[in-house]
Amino acid sequence: MADQDYGVLARTHRHALDFIAGLDARSVAATATADELRARLDRPLLDTGTSADTVIDDLVADTADGHTGSAGGRFFGWVIGGALPSALAADWLAATWDNNAGASASAPAACVVEEIAGAWLKDVLDLPRDASFALTTGCQLAHVTCLAAARNAVLRDAGWDVETDGLIGAPAIRVLANDQRHGSIERALRILGLGSKCIEPLATTVDGRLPAETLRAALDRVAGQPTIVLLDGGDLHVGGFDDYRALIPMAKAAGAWVHVDGAFGLWARASRDHRHLADGMDLADSWATDGHKWLNTPYDSGVAVVRDTRAHRASMAIATSYIAQDSGIRDPMDWTPEWSRRARGFAIYAALRELGRGGLADLIDRCCAHAKAIATGIGALPGAELLATPTLNQGLVRFPDRMASDEVAHAARTDAVIAAINATGECLFSAATWRGKRVMRISVVSWRTDARDVERTIAAVAGVLERMP
Ligand SMILES: *Cc1c(COP(=O)(O)O)cnc(C)c1O
Repeated sequence: MADQDYGVLARTHRHALDFIAGLDARSVAATATADELRARLDRPLLDTGTSADTVIDDLVADTADGHTGSAGGRFFGWVIGGALPSALAADWLAATWDNNAGASASAPAACVVEEIAGAWLKDVLDLPRDASFALTTGCQLAHVTCLAAARNAVLRDAGWDVETDGLIGAPAIRVLANDQRHGSIERALRILGLGSKCIEPLATTVDGRLPAETLRAALDRVAGQPTIVLLDGGDLHVGGFDDYRALIPMAKAAGAWVHVDGAFGLWARASRDHRHLADGMDLADSWATDGHKWLNTPYDSGVAVVRDTRAHRASMAIATSYIAQDSGIRDPMDWTPEWSRRARGFAIYAALRELGRGGLADLIDRCCAHAKAIATGIGALPGAELLATPTLNQGLVRFPDRMASDEVAHAARTDAVIAAINATGECLFSAATWRGKRVMRISVVSWRTDARDVERTIAAVAGVLERMP
């Protein structure tokens, strides 16, 4: 291959900078329809190849209006962060170096960087420094990793070696979980062979908290059975936190493994103003979070941290003869459910260095302030109702039908207003059904969101509500 073939990289650099420069002006929602995208992209696959320049130019042109503006500052749907400049650049380099970061033998620098990124993460999140960790594709696989370790440990304590003997004939495992849990918890349990029916849901209060007496009663209902307790580290809808100092010791005294879903909420521990909310979360046994949410790394960035290093390793390690085992560098494949893998430590390392401790704290607290300003700003508009003022970075509003009193009508109007807001292209929100009410979720996790974005967003929603009285 000739070096000139890499001219496409300079072209791609220009395409990338053009996209980023255009973020403020483009529609936040994608505007292309599925049919339009298919008509442009579904070309006949030819026998002869196409030049790299043409492939990339066409890809950029064909998909241009098919991307949401989640890389910009006015994307508030779900919990989706942007990408810090150094993290994006490091991710480009990870693809360029193209090392397989499963093993140190094939990627020494990537694996050393991953060791350091793991240590930095435990440090900024203030989790046990001697805990083991894994960098996974996302929080979903971080749950699988943590809960595989949990499964190993609670069955080991019951005299059962699940890694050798499997689950058939094993003692049943109870899983006590918050009723507002994220769907990825259920899927992790399904993948691990525990099944969704093993979950005993625990009712939470309207502010997303699990009362201590609810957990106490659930633990007391059955004694002496292997048990895993799943706590939310930041409730999905309202960002509520539990009283971890009360709940975690109670569960552990009953012999349970405590896992925390801190996909975004764990980052409160790196803030100044919101740190107290996540107090005591470090008492748990395992934690799952995301780099691609609040740390603002590009996608493919989940983090699992496990206190019981032995259970973590027992559940994931593999013995092979053809990979050198004695490099003195941690082999990531012994800690994740993956073999070949992207060198995802680079982006985390870069993001943490670019921000520094202070910058990370500012990022978290700034997003929370913007979330509050957007929620209260929208909530104050005629035709809107504020349902949950953000205590972290998540808020809820809805747009009730003033002519009707039933939830069906309120839901229909709320959905119609959200669709109209998203159609302005100014900002993007997602809908959900929360405690029987259709709501618009407000979620701020991007480093790019600033006061001007907040103003533009409230103005866009005000404009829609004036048109739809
Ligand atoms: C996003 C999210 C997940 C899933 O994380 P992925 O990175 O998308 O796999 C799990 N739990 C909560 C609370 C989340 O917000």
